Amino acid sequence: MKKRIYTFLIVVSIGLLSNAIVAQIHITGNIEINMNSGVFKCNVNLSNMPKLKDYSILLNKGMNIKYFKDYNNDLIKYEGHYNGQMKGEAIEYVLKIDSTSTFKEINVSYLGAFPVYTNDYNEFDYKGVIAINNQTVRATEQTKWYPVVYDITNDKLINSYTYDLNISLIDGNTIFLNGSPPKKKSNARFVSKKAYPLFLFAGTYDFIENNGDYILNTDVTQENAKVIFENIEVIKNNYSKNLGIKFTDHIYLINHKAINKRKKGSSWGFNTYPAFAFTGLNFNKLIDENGTFYNHHFRYFGHEFGHNYFGNNVASGKLKWFWVESFAEYLSYNTIEDLIEKNYLKEVLTKQLSYLKSDDIYVPLNEIESTNQIGEKYRYVLAPLMLKCFEDRFGRVKMNLVIRSLLQYAKDETLTIEHFQKSAIKSGIDKEDYKAFEKNFITSKNFKQNIIEEIKKKL
Ligand SMILES: [Zn+2]
Repeated sequence: MKKRIYTFLIVVSIGLLSNAIVAQIHITGNIEINMNSGVFKCNVNLSNMPKLKDYSILLNKGMNIKYFKDYNNDLIKYEGHYNGQMKGEAIEYVLKIDSTSTFKEINVSYLGAFPVYTNDYNEFDYKGVIAINNQTVRATEQTKWYPVVYDITNDKLINSYTYDLNISLIDGNTIFLNGSPPKKKSNARFVSKKAYPLFLFAGTYDFIENNGDYILNTDVTQENAKVIFENIEVIKNNYSKNLGIKFTDHIYLINHKAINKRKKGSSWGFNTYPAFAFTGLNFNKLIDENGTFYNHHFRYFGHEFGHNYFGNNVASGKLKWFWVESFAEYLSYNTIEDLIEKNYLKEVLTKQLSYLKSDDIYVPLNEIESTNQIGEKYRYVLAPLMLKCFEDRFGRVKMNLVIRSLLQYAKDETLTIEHFQKSAIKSGIDKEDYKAFEKNFITSKNFKQNIIEEIKKKL
């Protein structure tokens, strides 16, 4: 879950939706990929669709629709074939379901073909490209290789699904679908009751496993792989210990080859949690001579693994970016504080302060009306520093209790700033003390400046 830029075309009232329990889309069906021709042949069903007022179905522009059907196996009329609208990498299909039919399931059959790069290159490559070379196919959720639901009213892509998919590969021996262990098979069934964005990585490659974590398609030595897993284990265990909640996500590190020519020595990474893909990264060089991750890797993974706790489970309501990203980022401070020398945290905090400019304007959390008001700097810099101030004032023990309490609330409620207060009081923080903190660092007109001053004191 990394930085994405959101263009808000429509001003929406999220208030009505924020407490609704959103149905979890489930995808089933068959996928066949021919590694030689680059052909995808797919027939999938989306069920348990949420009730959306206005939505469309997005499919990569390289895919051709055979048909859309409803749950009665009747054809669904749709728009998008002629003069279709593009949205990112996809064409937008609008289903024309008449008011008498009950809309429960969508079946879509489609076929697409993508170039296979062997000894040649494209001018560019990025996460939104379905990239096939003579060894692997890489298709992330961003490519919309599977039908992604676009909630038009809320300008939101819904692309994390539970799944039960049969995937077969012509001329390949290994398949990975995000959230499930890779399988050394050319034909395999993948089932997950937990929703993930469907990042597919298949082809002819090997992988290494350790306690349910995997490294895919790399020439990393067994010895270095062991050390990488040990480092990952240290980060996971630190989280489990601090928060008293077991780290449950398995991690997938993937080495892939870009389809564009890249400068020697440059590396490019992206992630679709809990999978992390890298190109040009030498896994043998992820660790220093003492066998530990470099500092910035601790921080990077500290943030990313923080999403084991603050991920889809808290991604709702007006403050969703605060809960998802600011907490993951704050947790990365804990990771580096606990696992590497303290000076590095100071270095990071100093760097973070330098991003905050005097003319930046931020709306206090209690006045936030829509999700886009918590922009990237707010969610990745300012709000995590606010949480750091909170920790500095009340101590890490209480902070950890607050986090546990929030995660408990998040199980069946959309988190609000009131939950933060309730959790603070439940964790033994005096109400007046909380109020004093809130007044200075959350609701004040000068909250940004107050946070900056407070952090500076500790540097
Ligand atoms: Zn993140």
